Amino acid sequence: GVRDGLGAYIVKPETYAPDVVVYHNDDFVAIHDMFPKSSLHLLLLPRDQTKTRMHPFDVFEDAEFLAKVKAETQTLRKLAAGELRRTYGKDSAQEQARQAALSADPPPDELPQGRDWEQEIVVGVHAVPSMNHLHVHVLSVDRYSERLKHRKHYNSFSTPFFVPIEDFPLAEDDVRRNPTKEGYLKRDFTCWRCGRGFGNRFAELKQHLEQEFREWKKL
Ligand code: 5GP
Ligand code: ZN
Repeated sequence: GVRDGLGAYIVKPETYAPDVVVYHNDDFVAIHDMFPKSSLHLLLLPRDQTKTRMHPFDVFEDAEFLAKVKAETQTLRKLAAGELRRTYGKDSAQEQARQAALSADPPPDELPQGRDWEQEIVVGVHAVPSMNHLHVHVLSVDRYSERLKHRKHYNSFSTPFFVPIEDFPLAEDDVRRNPTKEGYLKRDFTCWRCGRGFGNRFAELKQHLEQEFREWKKL
């Protein structure tokens, strides 16, 4: 069924074009999310057949496996940050300042830091995944995409329903183990960037996300 749609990528990653499969090795396949919820949205798929059907909360109890997944997400985070730099670097005030300093004659002793794009990437899993094969989201923080069409799309990446990979292993009594009880997906909207509340007004939130996206790029 549709919930098994990610399985094909881990079986035959070499059969996909580079705009679908970003890279693959013996243990992982990195792909572009087909319905991106941010301007850049990748998925890391572990290929281990004994693990791929497990819930992330359970599978990440295995410390050795968790360490391996965390290490690979670092690689993918760097790759994603490089992609953001290439895409938005020309718009970013910090990048422009660095370029200007580099081309000054003579260049200053201390160059301004370029923008740290790795900081603009979030990595984690959904407390209740919709797709069956184990996957870790690696996406830019903007939540700016025409594919972000439903209320739950926003909240699934902007409430504790999204569990950062850094938070694993989860404590026994972590409330995120009860995502339905906590009602994360039904919460009022809060802007990821400025914290402003939008109640249940999705159209207004979407407009605001576009404004925030423009400013975020240029920061
Ligand atoms: P989940 O909600 O399970 O954590 O996220 C599953 C993700 O897989 C979603 O972001 C969804 O857009 C993505 N997705 C669903 N089907 C496909 C597919 O066939 N190919 C790709 N590349 N991504 C998919
Ligand atoms: Zn805002």
